[in-house]
Amino acid sequence: RTSGRLAGLNSENGGVPDAKNLRVKLVLLGDSGVGKSCIVLRFVRGQFDPTSKVTVGASFLSQTIALQDSTTVKFEIWDTAGQERYAALAPLYYRGAAVSVIVYDITSPESFTKAQYWVKELQKHGSPDIVMALVGNKADLQEKREVSVQDGIDYAEKNGMFFIETSAKTADNINQLFEEIAKRLPRPSPS
Ligand code: GDP
Repeated sequence: RTSGRLAGLNSENGGVPDAKNLRVKLVLLGDSGVGKSCIVLRFVRGQFDPTSKVTVGASFLSQTIALQDSTTVKFEIWDTAGQERYAALAPLYYRGAAVSVIVYDITSPESFTKAQYWVKELQKHGSPDIVMALVGNKADLQEKREVSVQDGIDYAEKNGMFFIETSAKTADNINQLFEEIAKRLPRPSPS
């Protein structure tokens, strides 16, 4: 299932990021229930298991991918569950984040509205060069769709974001999401 270009790697560069080995903090945002944990588990463990929750709080899961130009990108993925109740703490999550993935559920217009709220928050408080991805998840539920593909595309385009629809359930576009983000990261100049 994993494409050759997007293989998970075990080795690291002694934890030292350089031009060829990037390490980035990625924060997940979005309404509860849109599938953030499932996306991470699908990406990191290659599984869809709705009963297994990613640990929340001051911890993260990480996954390294290799790009075609032999650059590796280690994503440190923060699942910001609980941000609804602790909105005042949210800026702590954004701090130092090179990437934000903002997720909604294509069957829930409310979650799409909430995604737009998080985009505005990041535009206010996030790093100015943050890479933002808008993700319409649960794309397998076509018959229940209530947010059109075009609405996602239009909103993302207006806000300079990368857009993709995914399914953590079927694994559709999950690896592509992270690969596309990796391609958009600003590269430090080689020293
Ligand atoms: P979170 O609160 O955003 O972390 O959402 P979860 O990852 O816990 O997922 C919430 C619910 O949505 C679970 O019951 C999952 O089984 C379901 N779910 C997550 N991703 C998908 C998906 O791509 N397709 C479908 N059909 N259900 C999904």
